[in-house]
Amino acid sequence: MTERLPCRSEGCSATILPATAAKTGGYCMPCKQEMERAERQRYIEQHRRDIDLYEGITDPVEILKIMHAPVKRDPLIRYIPYHLKREEVYSALSEGDADRMLNAAFELLESGDEDTCQEILVSLICYRDYSLESCIPILLERGIYYPGILFKDAPARGRDRMLQFVEQDRENCNHLLLALAWIGDDQVVRQFQEWRSDPPSWAKELYVPPEAYAHEGGWELTENGSKRRLFYHDSYAIGEKMPTESTYAAEPEPAQFLKEDSASCPWCGSSLTILADLDISHPKLRFLGLSGERLRVSTCVNCSCYETIYMDVDFHGKSEWSQTNIKPEYVPGPDSGEDERSFTSAGRSLRIADKPRSSYYAAYWALGPAVSQIGGYPAWIQDAVYPSCPCCSRSMTFIGQLDWEQIEEYGEGIYYMFLCADCKVTATLFQQT
Ligand SMILES: [Zn+2]
Ligand SMILES: [Zn+2]
Ligand SMILES: [Zn+2]
Repeated sequence: MTERLPCRSEGCSATILPATAAKTGGYCMPCKQEMERAERQRYIEQHRRDIDLYEGITDPVEILKIMHAPVKRDPLIRYIPYHLKREEVYSALSEGDADRMLNAAFELLESGDEDTCQEILVSLICYRDYSLESCIPILLERGIYYPGILFKDAPARGRDRMLQFVEQDRENCNHLLLALAWIGDDQVVRQFQEWRSDPPSWAKELYVPPEAYAHEGGWELTENGSKRRLFYHDSYAIGEKMPTESTYAAEPEPAQFLKEDSASCPWCGSSLTILADLDISHPKLRFLGLSGERLRVSTCVNCSCYETIYMDVDFHGKSEWSQTNIKPEYVPGPDSGEDERSFTSAGRSLRIADKPRSSYYAAYWALGPAVSQIGGYPAWIQDAVYPSCPCCSRSMTFIGQLDWEQIEEYGEGIYYMFLCADCKVTATLFQQT
Protein backbone atom coordinates (compact mmCIF):
# COMPACT_ATOMS: atom_id res chain seq x y z
CA MET A 1 0.00 0.00 0.00
CA THR A 2 1.31 3.43 -0.93
CA GLU A 3 1.98 5.66 2.00
CA ARG A 4 -0.13 8.82 2.01
CA LEU A 5 1.44 12.19 2.70
CA PRO A 6 -0.03 15.02 4.76
CA CYS A 7 -1.18 18.12 2.81
CA ARG A 8 1.30 20.98 3.16
CA SER A 9 -1.30 23.60 4.05
CA GLU A 10 -1.20 24.69 7.61
CA GLY A 11 -4.23 23.44 9.48
CA CYS A 12 -5.30 20.98 6.75
CA SER A 13 -5.58 17.41 7.97
CA ALA A 14 -6.04 15.78 4.54
CA THR A 15 -3.59 13.19 3.30
CA ILE A 16 -2.76 12.63 -0.35
CA LEU A 17 -1.10 10.10 -2.61
CA PRO A 18 2.50 10.81 -3.63
CA ALA A 19 1.33 11.04 -7.26
CA THR A 20 -1.06 13.84 -6.31
CA ALA A 21 1.66 15.53 -4.27
CA ALA A 22 3.96 15.49 -7.29
CA LYS A 23 1.31 17.23 -9.37
CA THR A 24 0.16 19.78 -6.81
CA GLY A 25 3.40 20.55 -5.06
CA GLY A 26 2.32 18.73 -1.93
CA TYR A 27 -1.19 20.11 -1.50
CA CYS A 28 -4.50 18.28 -1.43
CA MET A 29 -6.91 19.07 -4.26
CA PRO A 30 -9.29 21.31 -2.25
CA CYS A 31 -6.33 23.34 -0.92
CA LYS A 32 -4.80 23.53 -4.38
CA GLN A 33 -8.09 24.74 -5.87
CA GLU A 34 -8.53 27.30 -3.11
CA MET A 35 -4.99 28.61 -3.77
CA GLU A 36 -5.75 28.92 -7.46
CA ARG A 37 -9.01 30.71 -6.77
CA ALA A 38 -7.25 33.16 -4.43
CA GLU A 39 -4.54 33.68 -7.04
CA ARG A 40 -7.14 34.46 -9.71
CA GLN A 41 -8.88 36.84 -7.35
CA ARG A 42 -5.59 38.63 -6.62
CA TYR A 43 -4.92 38.91 -10.33
CA ILE A 44 -8.38 40.34 -10.97
CA GLU A 45 -8.01 42.86 -8.18
CA GLN A 46 -4.61 44.00 -9.40
CA HIS A 47 -5.60 44.28 -13.03
CA ARG A 48 -9.21 45.36 -12.80
CA ARG A 49 -9.95 48.64 -14.50
CA ASP A 50 -12.75 51.03 -13.71
CA ILE A 51 -14.66 52.07 -16.77
CA ASP A 52 -17.06 54.98 -16.76
CA LEU A 53 -19.27 54.60 -19.80
CA TYR A 54 -20.86 57.95 -18.97
CA GLU A 55 -17.70 60.00 -18.75
CA GLY A 56 -18.12 63.37 -20.42
CA ILE A 57 -21.68 62.57 -21.56
CA THR A 58 -24.31 65.07 -20.54
CA ASP A 59 -27.11 64.34 -23.02
CA PRO A 60 -29.73 62.34 -21.06
CA VAL A 61 -30.83 60.53 -24.22
CA GLU A 62 -27.29 59.28 -24.80
CA ILE A 63 -27.10 58.29 -21.15
CA LEU A 64 -30.30 56.26 -21.42
CA LYS A 65 -29.11 54.61 -24.62
CA ILE A 66 -26.01 53.44 -22.76
CA MET A 67 -28.16 52.21 -19.88
CA HIS A 68 -30.29 50.14 -22.25
CA ALA A 69 -27.35 48.76 -24.21
CA PRO A 70 -26.00 45.35 -23.21
CA VAL A 71 -22.60 45.46 -21.51
CA LYS A 72 -19.81 43.01 -22.04
CA ARG A 73 -19.30 41.00 -18.87
CA ASP A 74 -15.63 40.91 -17.99
CA PRO A 75 -14.24 40.23 -14.50
CA LEU A 76 -11.38 42.62 -15.27
CA ILE A 77 -13.76 45.53 -15.83
CA ARG A 78 -15.73 47.32 -13.18
CA TYR A 79 -18.37 49.58 -14.64
CA ILE A 80 -18.97 52.69 -12.62
CA PRO A 81 -22.74 53.12 -12.27
CA TYR A 82 -24.30 56.40 -13.31
CA HIS A 83 -25.15 58.64 -10.37
CA LEU A 84 -28.87 58.52 -11.21
CA LYS A 85 -31.06 55.47 -11.67
CA ARG A 86 -32.61 54.78 -15.02
CA GLU A 87 -36.10 55.75 -13.82
CA GLU A 88 -34.75 59.02 -12.45
CA VAL A 89 -33.22 59.93 -15.79
CA TYR A 90 -36.52 59.15 -17.53
CA SER A 91 -38.50 61.22 -15.05
CA ALA A 92 -36.21 64.21 -15.60
CA LEU A 93 -36.28 64.16 -19.44
CA SER A 94 -37.59 67.25 -21.20
CA GLU A 95 -40.51 66.75 -23.59
CA GLY A 96 -38.15 67.09 -26.54
CA ASP A 97 -35.76 64.52 -25.11
CA ALA A 98 -38.63 62.11 -24.46
CA ASP A 99 -39.52 62.41 -28.16
CA ARG A 100 -35.89 61.71 -29.07
CA MET A 101 -35.97 58.65 -26.84
CA LEU A 102 -39.04 57.46 -28.72
CA ASN A 103 -37.14 57.80 -31.98
CA ALA A 104 -34.25 55.85 -30.49
CA ALA A 105 -36.69 53.08 -29.58
CA PHE A 106 -37.99 52.83 -33.13
CA GLU A 107 -34.45 52.85 -34.54
CA LEU A 108 -33.80 49.80 -32.38
CA LEU A 109 -36.97 48.20 -33.69
CA GLU A 110 -35.75 48.81 -37.26
CA SER A 111 -32.50 47.09 -36.41
CA GLY A 112 -34.39 44.08 -35.08
CA ASP A 113 -34.05 44.72 -31.33
CA GLU A 114 -37.70 44.49 -30.38
CA ASP A 115 -37.01 43.79 -26.69
CA THR A 116 -35.05 46.97 -26.01
CA CYS A 117 -37.52 48.98 -28.07
CA GLN A 118 -40.33 47.64 -25.91
CA GLU A 119 -38.38 48.38 -22.72
CA ILE A 120 -37.90 52.02 -23.76
CA LEU A 121 -41.54 52.46 -24.77
CA VAL A 122 -42.77 51.02 -21.48
CA SER A 123 -40.32 53.19 -19.53
CA LEU A 124 -41.63 56.30 -21.29
CA ILE A 125 -45.20 55.36 -20.40
CA CYS A 126 -44.53 54.34 -16.80
CA TYR A 127 -42.11 57.04 -15.71
CA ARG A 128 -43.64 59.94 -17.64
CA ASP A 129 -47.13 58.82 -18.64
CA TYR A 130 -45.94 59.50 -22.18
CA SER A 131 -48.59 58.92 -24.84
CA LEU A 132 -47.75 56.49 -27.65
CA GLU A 133 -50.86 57.56 -29.55
CA SER A 134 -48.93 58.46 -32.69
CA CYS A 135 -47.00 55.17 -32.73
CA ILE A 136 -49.89 52.73 -32.57
CA PRO A 137 -50.03 52.24 -36.37
CA ILE A 138 -46.34 51.23 -36.39
CA LEU A 139 -46.88 48.73 -33.59
CA LEU A 140 -49.90 47.21 -35.34
CA GLU A 141 -48.01 47.12 -38.61
CA ARG A 142 -45.32 45.09 -36.89
CA GLY A 143 -47.78 42.78 -35.17
CA ILE A 144 -46.66 44.00 -31.75
CA TYR A 145 -49.61 43.74 -29.35
CA TYR A 146 -47.79 43.19 -26.09
CA PRO A 147 -47.52 44.44 -23.38
CA GLY A 148 -51.01 45.88 -23.32
CA ILE A 149 -49.91 49.09 -21.60
CA LEU A 150 -48.35 50.24 -24.90
CA PHE A 151 -51.90 50.77 -26.17
CA LYS A 152 -53.16 52.80 -23.23
CA ASP A 153 -53.74 55.91 -25.35
CA ALA A 154 -54.52 54.25 -28.66
CA PRO A 155 -56.66 56.42 -30.94
CA ALA A 156 -60.02 55.27 -32.32
CA ARG A 157 -58.57 54.04 -35.59
CA GLY A 158 -56.07 51.72 -33.93
CA ARG A 159 -58.71 50.51 -31.51
CA ASP A 160 -61.10 49.62 -34.32
CA ARG A 161 -58.43 47.64 -36.11
CA MET A 162 -57.70 45.73 -32.95
CA LEU A 163 -61.38 45.00 -32.38
CA GLN A 164 -61.37 43.55 -35.88
CA PHE A 165 -58.18 41.52 -35.33
CA VAL A 166 -59.47 40.00 -32.12
CA GLU A 167 -62.30 38.34 -34.03
CA GLN A 168 -59.93 36.85 -36.59
CA ASP A 169 -56.51 36.35 -35.06
CA ARG A 170 -56.84 33.29 -32.79
CA GLU A 171 -53.15 33.20 -32.06
CA ASN A 172 -52.94 36.74 -30.70
CA CYS A 173 -56.39 36.87 -29.14
CA ASN A 174 -55.05 36.92 -25.59
CA HIS A 175 -52.62 39.79 -26.22
CA LEU A 176 -55.21 41.73 -28.21
CA LEU A 177 -57.72 41.48 -25.37
CA LEU A 178 -55.08 42.71 -22.91
CA ALA A 179 -54.35 45.66 -25.17
CA LEU A 180 -58.07 46.43 -25.54
CA ALA A 181 -58.48 46.32 -21.77
CA TRP A 182 -55.72 48.93 -21.51
CA ILE A 183 -57.49 51.12 -24.06
CA GLY A 184 -60.73 50.78 -22.12
CA ASP A 185 -62.55 53.59 -23.96
CA ASP A 186 -66.32 53.75 -24.49
CA GLN A 187 -66.21 51.57 -27.58
CA VAL A 188 -64.17 48.87 -25.82
CA VAL A 189 -66.50 48.99 -22.82
CA ARG A 190 -69.49 48.57 -25.13
CA GLN A 191 -67.82 45.66 -26.89
CA PHE A 192 -66.92 43.93 -23.61
CA GLN A 193 -70.55 44.34 -22.57
CA GLU A 194 -71.75 42.76 -25.82
CA TRP A 195 -69.35 39.87 -25.42
CA ARG A 196 -70.63 39.37 -21.89
CA SER A 197 -74.27 39.21 -22.93
CA ASP A 198 -73.59 37.21 -26.07
CA PRO A 199 -70.29 35.30 -25.73
CA PRO A 200 -68.49 34.90 -29.07
CA SER A 201 -67.52 31.40 -30.18
CA TRP A 202 -63.80 32.08 -29.71
CA ALA A 203 -64.33 32.92 -26.02
CA LYS A 204 -64.39 29.17 -25.31
CA GLU A 205 -60.66 29.07 -25.99
CA LEU A 206 -59.90 31.60 -23.25
CA TYR A 207 -59.30 30.85 -19.58
CA VAL A 208 -61.60 33.67 -18.51
CA PRO A 209 -64.48 35.40 -20.31
CA PRO A 210 -63.39 38.34 -22.52
CA GLU A 211 -64.85 40.99 -20.20
CA ALA A 212 -62.71 39.70 -17.31
CA TYR A 213 -59.67 41.10 -19.13
CA ALA A 214 -60.85 44.53 -17.94
CA HIS A 215 -58.97 43.91 -14.68
CA GLU A 216 -55.68 44.02 -16.58
CA GLY A 217 -56.51 47.56 -17.61
CA GLY A 218 -57.47 48.45 -14.04
CA TRP A 219 -61.25 48.53 -14.35
CA GLU A 220 -64.33 46.33 -14.29
CA LEU A 221 -67.50 46.15 -16.28
CA THR A 222 -70.32 46.96 -13.88
CA GLU A 223 -73.64 45.17 -13.87
CA ASN A 224 -75.20 47.88 -16.01
CA GLY A 225 -72.34 47.74 -18.49
CA SER A 226 -70.37 50.83 -17.54
CA LYS A 227 -66.71 51.12 -16.67
CA ARG A 228 -65.60 51.29 -13.06
CA ARG A 229 -61.98 52.20 -12.42
CA LEU A 230 -60.25 50.10 -9.74
CA PHE A 231 -57.23 52.24 -8.91
CA TYR A 232 -56.45 55.87 -8.10
CA HIS A 233 -54.62 58.13 -10.51
CA ASP A 234 -52.83 59.79 -7.59
CA SER A 235 -49.78 57.84 -6.59
CA TYR A 236 -47.13 58.34 -3.91
CA ALA A 237 -44.00 56.25 -3.64
CA ILE A 238 -43.18 54.70 -0.27
CA GLY A 239 -39.48 54.96 0.41
CA GLU A 240 -36.80 55.16 3.06
CA LYS A 241 -36.77 58.14 5.37
CA MET A 242 -33.63 60.20 5.07
CA PRO A 243 -31.69 59.88 8.34
CA THR A 244 -32.23 63.57 9.07
CA GLU A 245 -35.95 63.32 8.58
CA SER A 246 -36.46 60.92 11.44
CA THR A 247 -34.55 63.20 13.82
CA TYR A 248 -36.14 66.47 12.84
CA ALA A 249 -39.53 65.32 11.61
CA ALA A 250 -41.71 68.24 12.54
CA GLU A 251 -45.06 67.09 11.23
CA PRO A 252 -46.65 63.71 11.91
CA GLU A 253 -46.42 61.36 8.97
CA PRO A 254 -49.67 60.79 7.05
CA ALA A 255 -48.83 57.11 6.68
CA GLN A 256 -47.04 54.52 8.77
CA PHE A 257 -46.18 51.02 7.75
CA LEU A 258 -45.75 47.49 9.14
CA LYS A 259 -46.88 48.07 12.68
CA GLU A 260 -47.69 45.25 15.06
CA ASP A 261 -51.44 44.72 15.47
CA SER A 262 -52.68 43.73 18.95
CA ALA A 263 -54.82 40.89 17.52
CA SER A 264 -53.59 37.47 16.37
CA CYS A 265 -54.36 35.52 13.24
CA PRO A 266 -57.15 32.99 13.93
CA TRP A 267 -55.55 30.63 11.41
CA CYS A 268 -51.83 30.50 12.23
CA GLY A 269 -51.69 32.30 15.59
CA SER A 270 -49.08 34.91 14.61
CA SER A 271 -49.65 38.55 15.44
CA LEU A 272 -51.46 40.40 12.71
CA THR A 273 -49.59 43.23 11.02
CA ILE A 274 -50.87 46.67 10.10
CA LEU A 275 -49.45 46.97 6.59
CA ALA A 276 -50.51 50.60 6.30
CA ASP A 277 -51.89 52.99 8.88
CA LEU A 278 -53.25 55.95 6.92
CA ASP A 279 -54.28 59.37 8.14
CA ILE A 280 -57.05 59.77 5.58
CA SER A 281 -57.78 63.36 6.64
CA HIS A 282 -54.25 64.42 5.65
CA PRO A 283 -54.17 66.58 2.49
CA LYS A 284 -51.87 64.08 0.76
CA LEU A 285 -54.31 61.22 1.24
CA ARG A 286 -57.50 63.12 0.53
CA PHE A 287 -57.45 61.65 -2.97
CA LEU A 288 -58.74 58.42 -1.42
CA GLY A 289 -62.03 60.26 -0.95
CA LEU A 290 -62.73 58.74 2.47
CA SER A 291 -64.32 60.71 5.26
CA GLY A 292 -62.89 59.90 8.66
CA GLU A 293 -59.49 60.03 10.31
CA ARG A 294 -57.82 56.70 9.95
CA LEU A 295 -57.77 53.66 7.72
CA ARG A 296 -55.81 50.68 8.93
CA VAL A 297 -55.07 47.84 6.54
CA SER A 298 -54.13 44.78 8.58
CA THR A 299 -53.35 41.26 7.51
CA CYS A 300 -51.56 38.11 8.50
CA VAL A 301 -48.32 38.33 6.52
CA ASN A 302 -48.01 34.54 6.70
CA CYS A 303 -51.48 33.47 5.68
CA SER A 304 -52.02 36.13 3.02
CA CYS A 305 -49.38 34.32 0.96
CA TYR A 306 -51.97 31.56 0.58
CA GLU A 307 -55.34 33.28 0.64
CA THR A 308 -56.84 36.74 0.22
CA ILE A 309 -57.50 38.11 3.71
CA TYR A 310 -60.44 40.41 4.39
CA MET A 311 -60.79 42.75 7.35
CA ASP A 312 -63.77 44.79 8.53
CA VAL A 313 -62.75 48.39 8.97
CA ASP A 314 -64.23 51.76 9.74
CA PHE A 315 -62.57 55.05 8.92
CA HIS A 316 -61.62 55.69 12.53
CA GLY A 317 -58.89 53.08 12.87
CA LYS A 318 -60.84 49.86 13.40
CA SER A 319 -59.59 46.76 11.64
CA GLU A 320 -61.01 43.36 12.55
CA TRP A 321 -60.71 39.88 11.08
CA SER A 322 -63.69 39.40 8.78
CA GLN A 323 -66.01 36.45 9.37
CA THR A 324 -66.16 36.04 5.59
CA ASN A 325 -62.54 34.81 5.43
CA ILE A 326 -62.34 31.25 4.18
CA LYS A 327 -59.56 29.22 5.72
CA PRO A 328 -57.36 27.63 3.07
CA GLU A 329 -56.54 23.93 3.24
CA TYR A 330 -52.94 24.68 4.04
CA VAL A 331 -52.11 27.12 6.83
CA PRO A 332 -48.50 27.89 7.71
CA GLY A 333 -47.17 27.49 11.26
CA PRO A 334 -46.85 30.58 13.47
CA ASP A 335 -43.75 32.79 13.39
CA SER A 336 -41.04 31.14 15.41
CA GLY A 337 -39.60 34.27 16.91
CA GLU A 338 -38.65 37.90 16.97
CA ASP A 339 -36.28 37.48 14.03
CA GLU A 340 -39.04 36.79 11.61
CA ARG A 341 -40.82 39.97 12.54
CA SER A 342 -37.82 42.21 11.92
CA PHE A 343 -39.90 43.80 9.15
CA THR A 344 -41.68 45.90 11.76
CA SER A 345 -38.47 47.81 12.39
CA ALA A 346 -37.96 48.20 8.63
CA GLY A 347 -41.47 49.66 8.54
CA ARG A 348 -40.49 52.44 10.92
CA SER A 349 -38.06 53.83 8.36
CA LEU A 350 -40.65 54.05 5.59
CA ARG A 351 -42.60 57.13 4.61
CA ILE A 352 -44.59 58.33 1.66
CA ALA A 353 -42.95 60.71 -0.78
CA ASP A 354 -43.60 64.44 -0.69
CA LYS A 355 -44.61 64.64 -4.33
CA PRO A 356 -46.88 62.38 -6.36
CA ARG A 357 -45.54 60.38 -9.30
CA SER A 358 -46.99 59.02 -12.52
CA SER A 359 -50.01 56.75 -11.90
CA TYR A 360 -48.38 54.06 -14.03
CA TYR A 361 -44.88 54.34 -12.56
CA ALA A 362 -45.02 50.79 -11.22
CA ALA A 363 -47.40 49.40 -13.84
CA TYR A 364 -44.80 47.23 -15.55
CA TRP A 365 -43.17 45.33 -12.73
CA ALA A 366 -40.46 43.79 -14.92
CA LEU A 367 -38.75 47.18 -15.34
CA GLY A 368 -37.06 46.46 -12.05
CA PRO A 369 -37.15 49.18 -9.40
CA ALA A 370 -38.83 48.60 -6.04
CA VAL A 371 -42.45 49.70 -6.21
CA SER A 372 -44.01 50.28 -2.79
CA GLN A 373 -46.67 52.96 -3.11
CA ILE A 374 -50.02 54.34 -2.00
CA GLY A 375 -52.47 54.80 -4.87
CA GLY A 376 -51.52 54.42 -8.52
CA TYR A 377 -51.81 51.41 -10.79
CA PRO A 378 -50.61 48.15 -9.17
CA ALA A 379 -47.38 46.39 -10.11
CA TRP A 380 -48.73 42.94 -10.89
CA ILE A 381 -46.09 40.24 -10.77
CA GLN A 382 -48.63 37.74 -12.09
CA ASP A 383 -52.08 38.32 -13.59
CA ALA A 384 -54.15 41.24 -12.32
CA VAL A 385 -56.33 40.17 -9.38
CA TYR A 386 -58.78 42.63 -7.86
CA PRO A 387 -60.54 40.64 -5.13
CA SER A 388 -64.33 40.63 -5.05
CA CYS A 389 -65.81 42.34 -2.03
CA PRO A 390 -67.30 39.62 0.21
CA CYS A 391 -70.33 41.85 0.89
CA CYS A 392 -71.29 43.43 -2.44
CA SER A 393 -69.20 41.19 -4.75
CA ARG A 394 -67.97 44.15 -6.80
CA SER A 395 -64.22 44.26 -7.49
CA MET A 396 -62.35 46.06 -4.74
CA THR A 397 -60.25 49.16 -5.42
CA PHE A 398 -56.48 49.01 -5.19
CA ILE A 399 -55.11 51.40 -2.57
CA GLY A 400 -51.43 50.53 -2.26
CA GLN A 401 -48.69 47.93 -2.20
CA LEU A 402 -45.60 47.03 -0.21
CA ASP A 403 -42.67 45.56 -2.10
CA TRP A 404 -40.85 43.13 0.20
CA GLU A 405 -37.63 43.80 -1.68
CA GLN A 406 -37.57 47.12 0.18
CA ILE A 407 -38.33 45.52 3.53
CA GLU A 408 -35.99 42.57 3.95
CA GLU A 409 -32.52 41.96 2.63
CA TYR A 410 -33.45 38.98 0.49
CA GLY A 411 -37.14 39.74 0.47
CA GLU A 412 -39.27 39.38 -2.60
CA GLY A 413 -42.91 39.58 -3.59
CA ILE A 414 -45.52 42.26 -3.15
CA TYR A 415 -48.44 42.66 -0.71
CA TYR A 416 -51.36 44.38 -2.44
CA MET A 417 -54.04 46.28 -0.48
CA PHE A 418 -57.65 46.86 -1.56
CA LEU A 419 -60.72 48.57 -0.20
CA CYS A 420 -64.47 48.47 -0.72
CA ALA A 421 -65.31 51.87 0.73
CA ASP A 422 -69.07 51.25 0.65
CA CYS A 423 -68.93 48.00 2.61
CA LYS A 424 -65.90 49.09 4.70
CA VAL A 425 -63.86 46.00 3.96
CA THR A 426 -60.15 45.77 3.12
CA ALA A 427 -58.43 42.89 1.37
CA THR A 428 -54.78 41.95 1.04
CA LEU A 429 -53.12 39.48 -1.22
CA PHE A 430 -49.57 38.55 -2.12
CA GLN A 431 -47.83 37.71 -5.37
CA GLN A 432 -44.31 36.65 -6.19
CA THR A 433 -42.49 35.21 -9.18
ZN1 LIG B 1 -5.20 20.48 2.14
ZN1 LIG C 1 -51.98 33.65 9.80
ZN1 LIG D 1 -68.44 45.92 -1.10
